[in-house]
Amino acid sequence: RAKNAGRNAAAAFTPELRAINLRRVEIETRLRPALERGELELHFQPIHTIAGELCGFEALSRWPLAGRGLVPPSEFIPVAEATGLLSTLTDWALDTGLAALARWRALRPDLDLTLSVNIAPTRGTTTYLQQAIASALARHHIPAHALCLEITESALIVDDAPARHFFMALRDLGVRLSIDDFGTGYSSFAYLTQLPVDEVKIDQTFISALADRTASATVVASIVGLAHQLGLQALAEGVETAEQLAAVRRLGCDLVQGYLLGRPMPAQEVDRLIGREAFADAD
Ligand code: C2E
Ligand code: MG
Ligand code: MG
Ligand code: MG
Repeated sequence: RAKNAGRNAAAAFTPELRAINLRRVEIETRLRPALERGELELHFQPIHTIAGELCGFEALSRWPLAGRGLVPPSEFIPVAEATGLLSTLTDWALDTGLAALARWRALRPDLDLTLSVNIAPTRGTTTYLQQAIASALARHHIPAHALCLEITESALIVDDAPARHFFMALRDLGVRLSIDDFGTGYSSFAYLTQLPVDEVKIDQTFISALADRTASATVVASIVGLAHQLGLQALAEGVETAEQLAAVRRLGCDLVQGYLLGRPMPAQEVDRLIGREAFADAD
């Protein structure tokens, strides 16, 4: 009987699993032509100092797929990685993002706006990335310090020699380096002391749990304390409520990002936002 029940349960899941597989195959076959035709969009989420000043944006990829709406990066980045398309995608994100940043920096030279781009290090791409980044910066006349590269903590589970080499190579360009989703991966606090990093992005799971008076406040305080001792900036990601903003301010975070302060938006919306801010300041 138990065996039968198991088989029935498995059968019930089959159509769902098939749908997931079909979707994955569809994404695999349509991603390359979409990238080649320039159909991906880059959205930008504002980053503010804890004092409330706009200081930069994180570039986040979006894929409007006919008949499927917006495919989230969680679905197509792994496919890009598995099918060797990630460097094409990264090139595109760097070029598109830095072109927009050049415009915004010219519009608001007083803000020294930065752009954060997500980078997924894969084996053997260090030299390639170094060249791609240097040439994108030169092409758009952007000073290196205005570009921040975000590397997800979980991508560092390679043994530390290559990770260190990778970070050093990028650091040589003069760009800023950030560890994304900090606290969720496998790298220890000690590990952080060995990498030339400028910023840690405290994962939003810790931020969203802050309101519940859980141990999260202790975790955030520890991360901020460590970051500051190492001379790094601490950014709180996924700030959604005024309570969370108050908490991360109290806990000493330097930078904030989240729906409360702005959702990821198309470049034209940033144009309007920046124009409005410039206008407001001129009043
Ligand atoms: P991430 O770099 O940690 O980006 C933050 C994610 O949290 C984004 O999801 C953003 O839209 C979302 N988010 C921001 N504020 C809030 C908030 O207040 N509440 C909630 N619930 N969510 C918030 P998104 O855009 O779906 O991106 C997911 C991940 O995909 C990113 O995580 C990043 O790791 C990856 N990704 C996105 N674009 C690219 C890309 O161009 N290249 C690479 N390699 N990875 C990318
Ligand atoms: Mg990120
Ligand atoms: Mg993150
Ligand atoms: Mg995240």
